[in-house]
Amino acid sequence: MIKCLKKTSELLLEREKEISPVGFVPTMGNLHQGHISLLEEALKEFKVVYFSIFVNPKQFGPTEDFHRYPRTLQNDLLLIEESIKNFPGLKVVVFAPENPEEIFPPAHKDVLSVSGLSTVLEGKIRPGHFDGVATVVYRLFHLIKPTKAYFGLKDFQQYLVIKQMVKDLSLPIKIQGMPIIREAQGLALSSRNQYLSSEQKSLSLVLFKTLSKIKEIIDHKKINLPKAKLFIEDTIKDPKWNYLVLRDSETFQEDLTLSTNITILAVYQMGTTRLLDNMQVEVQ
Ligand code: AMP
Repeated sequence: MIKCLKKTSELLLEREKEISPVGFVPTMGNLHQGHISLLEEALKEFKVVYFSIFVNPKQFGPTEDFHRYPRTLQNDLLLIEESIKNFPGLKVVVFAPENPEEIFPPAHKDVLSVSGLSTVLEGKIRPGHFDGVATVVYRLFHLIKPTKAYFGLKDFQQYLVIKQMVKDLSLPIKIQGMPIIREAQGLALSSRNQYLSSEQKSLSLVLFKTLSKIKEIIDHKKINLPKAKLFIEDTIKDPKWNYLVLRDSETFQEDLTLSTNITILAVYQMGTTRLLDNMQVEVQ
């Protein structure tokens, strides 16, 4: 069964009725298989899953794509309906507020900021972005009170910010990171891929190829990190790389001396579209 609610008052009434624990998947809609993989994982673990679709104005900068971000609710509902056919008897509540005031009432001025993580890399290029993300996710957690919430590792820094927020505020919510879903040739699925022309799309494969190449150079051995760093230094001479870095997957530190898992993170600029991706590699 699927229910679509647009008002916070309706959401709260529905939530009150639940007797089972609730799983939760927050999204901005324009769904693709990446989002659906989160929903399906939640449905494997919970009889009731809340799924939000909300283009959150607080996480976009003044010159970013908030107004042109694709809003495709009817199609999104069809995709969700299609996917829950494989889970008979389970319930999905889609919360799709049309008016941002449903989430942020006019008097709501509070901004939640996760210090440290929010101002480096993606946070440095997009000031305030992770504050916007943390603020909306906290607000949704507060309304939906899930037992567990599912986030894609595609947005790896976002995943760490949310985990840190949950830890800092001692929220009783488990956070599960889910693998990146890619097109056959490697491009990570993203709602923003539709901004790309077909030529740009094929040029974008350099992102996946470069991450794969660095992973191959590291080859699970810390001793290969200097070689990987030299390769990165050479690669980023091309200004289309907003960044291409190695970070510890747990601490997000640059110092990898004690790391057992490293994340290779990158943003590649394709015209006006920033393509975000990452890859993890275990090391000894
Ligand atoms: P968004 O709608 O872009 O805010 O994404 C909603 C959730 O879906 C986030 O947790 C994303 O990390 C996740 N997500 C987006 N793209 C993918 C993908 N290609 N694979 C796995 N998860 C994804």
